[in-house]
Amino acid sequence: MQYTISGTTRFGGLLGSPVAHSLSPAMHNTSFQELGINCVYLAFDVTAERLKETVSVFRQLNTYGFNLTMPCKKAVIESLDELSEAARLIGAVNTVVNCGGRLTGHNTDGIGYVESARENGVEICGSEITVLGAGGAAMAAAVQMALDGARRIHIANRRTRSWSAAQDLVDTINKETQCEADLTDLEDSTVLARHIADSSLLTNATSAGMAPDTGVTPVKDPSVFHEGLTVSDVIYNPRQTRLMREASERGCRTFNGMYMLLYQGAAAFRLWTGQDMPVELIKERYFS
Ligand code: NDP
Repeated sequence: MQYTISGTTRFGGLLGSPVAHSLSPAMHNTSFQELGINCVYLAFDVTAERLKETVSVFRQLNTYGFNLTMPCKKAVIESLDELSEAARLIGAVNTVVNCGGRLTGHNTDGIGYVESARENGVEICGSEITVLGAGGAAMAAAVQMALDGARRIHIANRRTRSWSAAQDLVDTINKETQCEADLTDLEDSTVLARHIADSSLLTNATSAGMAPDTGVTPVKDPSVFHEGLTVSDVIYNPRQTRLMREASERGCRTFNGMYMLLYQGAAAFRLWTGQDMPVELIKERYFS
């Protein structure tokens, strides 16, 4: 279905910097057109310093809401009226819904990860999982898996920049959810191997292996990959990371971060419109 921009068209979009490379405008505008929803989605290059005034404009105008990317995901929180449980626990927001001037912050990155795991045959509820990393992507994925009923999550991170964030993440999961979480030094290969042996899902949420450093892997010893383990990467460039290749060579099912990106957008679309994004069309047009 096609529509033309009129006096009743509502807008929203992506706030952050940089945003010019983002797939989100294509995904959302194609979906609005396909479903005949009279909305548009644009990308706005906004730094953290200019975020407050921009959010105030989005609140006052007739927007349906907006997405946030770096460096705005944490900074936006002080401008919002309410947070979803996941956004509160993660401490970051990637989607805001504007309901008559009242702004509610959500985090759909973790939902996107869990949905992509489900599509690859992984059951989160009741599972034991190892998550590598403690940055934004790791927090979103780990918190959502904990909220979705994961039994135990082992976080492994370097003892560097984000070590204290990793400790906070483990404390939050243990305090606020039914899931048990623990923290390991990523360099402690003995403990890491034990955790991976007990897990059915390994989630690499570090940027190790992302282009251009495609020769890097966060798991130094590929013998830890076992039958029955699914190995996933939140990275989508390259489509197959070294970690995925080495796991695949040892018989593991693997998947990358492409559909995490797709399904975080689909979850935002549902929050704004109440309708399902036409994901098969979006996959075919932008993710194949
Ligand atoms: P952050 O900078 O917030 O966190 C990065 C994490 O990776 C930190 O824990 C960092 O540890 C760790 N890390 C970085 N390099 C290495 C390395 N060589 N070895 C071990 N650990 C390392 O980034 P994000 O969480 O935002 O992003 C992480 C990845 O996820 C990126 O590749 C990004 O593109 C991808 N991503 C994918 C999404 C999707 O939709 N598929 C959504 C969001 C992100 P330290 O702090 O010690 O450096």
